[in-house]
Amino acid sequence: MAGGEKVDYVFKVVLIGDSAVGKSQILARFARNEFSIDSKATIGVEFQTRTLLIDHKYSCMVVGGWVGNWADASTKYGECGYRAVTSAYYRGALGALLVYDITKRQSFDHIPRWLEELRGHADKNIVIMLVGNKSDLEDERAVSTEDAKEFAEKENLFFLETSALQATNVENAFQTVLSEIFKIHS
Ligand code: GDP
Repeated sequence: MAGGEKVDYVFKVVLIGDSAVGKSQILARFARNEFSIDSKATIGVEFQTRTLLIDHKYSCMVVGGWVGNWADASTKYGECGYRAVTSAYYRGALGALLVYDITKRQSFDHIPRWLEELRGHADKNIVIMLVGNKSDLEDERAVSTEDAKEFAEKENLFFLETSALQATNVENAFQTVLSEIFKIHS
C-alpha cells in the first residue's frame, strides 16, 4: 500500500451473480472510478481494494472480489479445482453483493441459486446486498423493482438498483454493506 497509510480494518466483500451482469464494472467503478464499455467476461477471480472512512474515524480497506461464471470456471479448473477456487474465494468474506442485470430476467431467476451457494460457503453473519445493475437501461427492464424488493425482504437482504455506467448507487451499495459489517464486527 502506498505511503504506509494506516488501516484499522480490512473487510472482504465478494460480488457474485451470472456472467455479464456487471460485477467487474461495479468493482472498477468502486475501486478506481472507472468504467469500460467493452469489458470481456473474465474467467477466474479478480480482487481490487479501496480504503474508506467509517464514522469519519476508522479507516477500512475493502477488498472487493468477483468471480466469473461458475460454468466457465468449472470448465477451466475442473469440478474439483472449481470447488477449491470457490471456497478460497468465499473464505473470510464478511459482505457480498449479489448482482443481477435488470434487463435479463434469467440473471434474477438464478439469484436463489447464488444465495444458496453463498450461504453454503460464507460466514454465517455475512451481510448481503441484492443489486439490480444496469438501471440506466430502463427501456429494456425485465425485472420490476417491486419483485426484487419483495424477494430481498423475504430473504432478509439489503437491496439497491445500481448503474456502474452512470455511477448510480455503487458507492451507496458498498457503504451500506460496510457500515453493517462494521456494526457487527467492530
Ligand atoms: P461480469 O461478467 O458480471 O463481471 O460483467 P461485466 O462487468 O464484464 O459487464 C458485462 C457488460 O455489461 C459489459 O459490456 C459492461 O460494459 C456492461 N455493463 C456493466 N455495468 C453496466 C451498467 O451499469 N449499465 C450498462 N448499460 N452496461 C453495463
